[in-house]
Amino acid sequence: MKYCTGCGAENRDDAVICEKCGKSFDTSVGTQPVSAEAKNNPMGIAGFVLSLVGLVLCWTGYGGFIFFLLGLIFSAIGISHGKRDGQKIGLAIAGLIISLIVFVLSIILLVVLGAIIAEILGSATALALL
Ligand SMILES: [Zn+2]
Repeated sequence: MKYCTGCGAENRDDAVICEKCGKSFDTSVGTQPVSAEAKNNPMGIAGFVLSLVGLVLCWTGYGGFIFFLLGLIFSAIGISHGKRDGQKIGLAIAGLIISLIVFVLSIILLVVLGAIIAEILGSATALALL
């Protein structure tokens, strides 16, 4: 049995509204607990995913910088919005760190590639001179 908060009438436990006065028993309205659990952070998740894609792509030489930038931007927005709105920022922080790793890897890749290309060109020039 449960009792109507409006008129005090007895109602069945599964009653949705009071049989006597029609007051709603919908307890989810107004009594929703203030959840301590943080909300999801779509921008942070986007930043995390983008930076992961960048991490994969930076070794191919394509898109590493683009995804680094996108990952960085989305992660940064995710962190600032997350802090403001009480959302989870773990993934956003991870995205930020991964984008920075992508950036460093892309730089290394460029330097290594540049060195290799210079080496090849140097050899080609040497061969041509022979
Ligand atoms: Zn009632």
